[in-house]
Amino acid sequence: MKDWDISDGLEIVCKCGKVHGSITKRVLVGDDAVMQLVDECKKLLSDGWVAVCYAQDCMQYADKVSTLLTDGGYVVHKVCFPSDTVACLEGATDLIEMQEMVRLIVAVGGGSIAQLARYASTIRHNPCVHVMTCTTTADILSATCFGDKSVNPPSCVIFDPRFAKQTSRLLASGYGEICSTVLKNVDVRWAARVGENGSCPYLLQQVEEVVREYIDEFKYCENKDMLTAKTLLIIGLLNQMIEQEITPCDRCVQLLEGVADVEPAPWGINTMIFASTMLGWYKAALKSPTNYMRVGLDRMSTTIGTCQSLGLDGVRVTIAQGKLKYKRQWAWMMREYKEDLADEALLAHTLLMRCMRQFRRIFDDAGYFLADYIDSDRVLKIAEASLVVSPRYTIPVLLAEDGILLE
Ligand SMILES: [Zn+2]
Repeated sequence: MKDWDISDGLEIVCKCGKVHGSITKRVLVGDDAVMQLVDECKKLLSDGWVAVCYAQDCMQYADKVSTLLTDGGYVVHKVCFPSDTVACLEGATDLIEMQEMVRLIVAVGGGSIAQLARYASTIRHNPCVHVMTCTTTADILSATCFGDKSVNPPSCVIFDPRFAKQTSRLLASGYGEICSTVLKNVDVRWAARVGENGSCPYLLQQVEEVVREYIDEFKYCENKDMLTAKTLLIIGLLNQMIEQEITPCDRCVQLLEGVADVEPAPWGINTMIFASTMLGWYKAALKSPTNYMRVGLDRMSTTIGTCQSLGLDGVRVTIAQGKLKYKRQWAWMMREYKEDLADEALLAHTLLMRCMRQFRRIFDDAGYFLADYIDSDRVLKIAEASLVVSPRYTIPVLLAEDGILLE
């Protein structure tokens, strides 16, 4: 990723004739990057009140950030959240209700804090700067949060490896998130083909190249944290230019997060588990001859039943996804492109399996961790439930229409 300069965001003069630009214009990655924080803030607010929000377990970093800002002439208002804060609308109340004189929000920490800060900054019309304390996720640059609420992405993001505490679990999560893009690309390409995603195909290709480059570089890279953080940020910037819609894999992770007795795990770990499950299924299902199909599958009752067995309110899950509609030509296109899709799934699956080995090695005892964490039966059950609750034009839904079940 050495060749990627993202300090001024991304601008791509594209083969399609357009110039694509990211919304976030400042992304600083590197040793001592945090020392530029005050300069960056000055571009957004010359002086006055700045809120620094952070989770309890990032207090040491928040203190350093506050000192930098105070030395830079700002008045700092600190907002501390409990360490186990989850990102939800109500959680942002403290930030939204801050005094009016606060004109800039600096978030210090990981994904949840970033989401709360972005939401509050959108409501309050304050710009937002994010100082990362771990590699977190590409989503910190997304234009939505809490599922689908539109928010302003941060104006500036800073990742300084000397300013971050990174566990192997979080590195694995970052690695998992990036590698899962291999599956996401198959889904998005399909959506683009059936006209349900109007994004520029060259941009989609660009994401794939970034992911491939990362996978090759990772093994021999000395600073894996920095490489992973930078790659996630590049993907985040590219995603700002691409129409985003939830993928079947993301939907599975959301369902898993709703299951009460499964320990919470970082997003990227869950996406990696489901990406390999789903892709294995795509590969098998797309190659399967028709006599493998179980015709007449009632997807709705399958989902509701599966959700219930997982302790989820199946009816609510399906209602939340809205009414399902199909275009007739999707099924036709599925037949038309089935062979191509099967080839793509096979290639992606081979690559992802290679990544899975690396993913396990990032943990000291991943075998134990993963086995204890969730059993394959449940993973399959959740994947099956996603047949209904995935967006309507996606591959799993179409395969389910054909009556192919997960095995
Ligand atoms: Zn383009």
